[in-house]
Amino acid sequence: MWRTDDTLLPPAESPIVEVLRTGQPALDVEVAIERPDGSRVPALVNFAALKNGAGETTGAIASFVDLTERKKLEQQSLRAQRMESIGTLAGGIAHDLNNSLGPIMMSLDLLRMKITDPGSRELLTVMDTSAHRGADMVRQILSFARGVDGKRAVVEVPRLVGEIENLVFETFLRHIEIRTSVPPGLWTVMGDSTQLHQVLLNLCLNARDAMPNGGVLTISAENREITPNDERLQQNPCAQPGRYCMLEVKDSGTGIPPEVLENIFDPFFTTKDFGKGSGLGLSTSLAIIKSHDGFIRAESEVGKGTAFQVFLSAQAETTPPAEITPEPERPPGNGELLLVVDDEDPMRRMTKQILEVFGYRVILACNGAEAVAIYAQRAGEIAAVITDMSMPVMEGPEAIRILQGMDAKLPIIAVSGLASTTYATQLADLGVKHILPKPYTAAELLKMLKEVLAGTGTAGQKPAPVSPP
Ligand code: ADP
Repeated sequence: MWRTDDTLLPPAESPIVEVLRTGQPALDVEVAIERPDGSRVPALVNFAALKNGAGETTGAIASFVDLTERKKLEQQSLRAQRMESIGTLAGGIAHDLNNSLGPIMMSLDLLRMKITDPGSRELLTVMDTSAHRGADMVRQILSFARGVDGKRAVVEVPRLVGEIENLVFETFLRHIEIRTSVPPGLWTVMGDSTQLHQVLLNLCLNARDAMPNGGVLTISAENREITPNDERLQQNPCAQPGRYCMLEVKDSGTGIPPEVLENIFDPFFTTKDFGKGSGLGLSTSLAIIKSHDGFIRAESEVGKGTAFQVFLSAQAETTPPAEITPEPERPPGNGELLLVVDDEDPMRRMTKQILEVFGYRVILACNGAEAVAIYAQRAGEIAAVITDMSMPVMEGPEAIRILQGMDAKLPIIAVSGLASTTYATQLADLGVKHILPKPYTAAELLKMLKEVLAGTGTAGQKPAPVSPP
């Protein structure tokens, strides 16, 4: 039976009928050939008429080329293109998000100095953790667009599970019961906790969507050793024998039918309504888990629920207790005059406020051209320039080049919200060593400022220092 794409060809339009009628060949006809089992193979067919001595058409012959592989490659290239556009889109979103997170992170630093009552300080810590998590996620979107490469450090699995439990508890409807189980003595996992946070969150969000009428969500962690003859090695090509910390997210939801289960890790595969699912949750999670030398498996029964098990390569030592992060240093200035260049008004104002609280004086410019004009008038007074990179009228690198032309030793901090690669080459060519990624905290800005000023000596000092709080 001939079909082109999804349409059954009526006999009169079938290429072979046409070849028999006209005696003319039909070349490169794309058809889907149906196998006896009902599956279809895409194929390219050439038909030629068979003629007798009198030139009459007596039959037709056909040659087939199986297009399965070519179609697969086309599909992959289409996906790659879509991923690339997502990368570009993500870059744009990340840039804007960094500009919104920056002022929040800096305001928190200022508020922490002003607010002393323990309850409010607790709230500030929650806001600070969330803002940092948001900033990490932005970094992660960028790193995913460029390929997953995260920071590797000891992952505190109990803390990670605790954070997810809190988040899920606060945000999911109450008809979903949440249970967690994290025994002591878990083996140590090296990884990027923000990326793993995202994996667990993706799994929990899917679990929630699979339980529209409520149910039980269980998040657990345990040590698992995979021996060389473990059946999981056959089931999963990424699995290797060894020690793993296994994180499981289990729901009592709808379950996944076997034909859907085969595709769930494909990018853009979703069974959710338009606008509800992107089909990127599990493919992103898979990429992250693979980059942690791990693997993921799913078990599901329709009507009973689903369990996702994330195996993360582990070392047989127990996770050390959390270190207390010391309060960051915020070295004050000494009345130096600084030129701050940024096209985002909230960023400019917040940076100015922070710098003034910590003893600097500040002039603002909203693009490179304005910065150059101001510097030309006040070159002798300005001790350092803090400039954004991506700005209208004149971008950061161009402004730096002109400023360096006026004073080769001018201390400069380049602030960049985009993936460091975007401006890295230009900044390296200009010899700019101090690059501050956006969004930054007050402490990070002040520390880098101290370094850049110490490196070259300071100009334009004012005698009366402002004491920092
Ligand atoms: P999205 O959630 O945007 O659809 P994912 O990649 O996270 O993308 O998931 C792909 C598909 O896998 C979902 O659309 C759903 O069909 C299925 N799926 C994932 N997790 C579950 C689950 N816990 N229960 C039922 N189906 C699930």
